[in-house]
Amino acid sequence: LEIGAPADSARVGRKRGAPQSDLDVSEGALRAALSRREFQVFYQPRIDCATQVVSGFEALVRWRHPEHGIVSPDRFIGPCEQLGLIDSLTEQVFDEGLRWLSHNLPASDTRLSLNLSACSLDDDGLADRMEQWCRKAGIAPRRIIVELTETAAMNDPSAALDLLTRLRLKGFHLSIDDFGVGHSSLVQLARLPFSELKIDRTFVAGAIESSESQTICRAVIGLGHGLGLTVTAEGVENEAVLAFLAAAGCDSAQGYLFARPMSGDDTIRWLERHTQP
Ligand code: C2E
Ligand code: CA
Ligand code: CA
Ligand code: CA
Repeated sequence: LEIGAPADSARVGRKRGAPQSDLDVSEGALRAALSRREFQVFYQPRIDCATQVVSGFEALVRWRHPEHGIVSPDRFIGPCEQLGLIDSLTEQVFDEGLRWLSHNLPASDTRLSLNLSACSLDDDGLADRMEQWCRKAGIAPRRIIVELTETAAMNDPSAALDLLTRLRLKGFHLSIDDFGVGHSSLVQLARLPFSELKIDRTFVAGAIESSESQTICRAVIGLGHGLGLTVTAEGVENEAVLAFLAAAGCDSAQGYLFARPMSGDDTIRWLERHTQP
């Protein structure tokens, strides 16, 4: 695997003129962006720590804004949640992600991770709709990993249990995102049907300088494995961190060391370069 060379297309930030502090995230602006399909899915590879094989991609949404360039999800996910627009955004992201997967990687085991908002936990029809989206795209639900943050899952564990159980029964895999920052009750967490745990990037980033972060990473890997989960580290930026994680038994890694999130086309080009013999 040829490590490094982050893709430029992924850099989130201001392009051309208009400062992003002027960004309009009002209901009108966000509805218009949804109807013009200005949201675009980027993809970041996840790598198996032991073999360095690409095992899947995480879908990360961006707003391709006509004046502000590529806008980070941190700027508009919260407003979409507060304005009741997150369901529409989720549907567009899932739809685009599933079509990208079925078009480019139809006959493979490569998985796609999709982020679910905490606001969707009480959406009774979501599991059925997700199954329909998968069927329409010709993608088996077992190829999809649904990521939910630890904080979201623990905020309303009974709603989480209900939705997650339905998803799991349909074959979707479930992942606990940003693990370690939420101070969860481990008893409650262990009852939820997750199959993966993602160590939050704050611990991963410190895994070389700080012995405290190292201890936390090792403990989370041990805990995850003890509960029968795979463990993925996010925010892996350099070789030293990757070596530490691999030695600590971490299963997969994601981060700028391998690639920044990239547009769908750039991701396929990246994959072709990285799977050459
Ligand atoms: P997340 O799910 O924890 O995603 C990981 C974030 O870490 C992404 O930020 C990714 O670009 C960034 N990242 C990846 N590798 C590295 C690295 O090596 N170093 C550093 N410093 N950062 C790295 P991004 O794309 O800006 O997304 C931010 C958050 O927005 C996501 O955090 C997720 O919570 C949310 N989000 C993104 N897409 C969606 C979506 O489609 N739906 C929902 N509900 N939330 C989304
Ligand atoms: Ca995530
Ligand atoms: Ca995360
Ligand atoms: Ca995060």
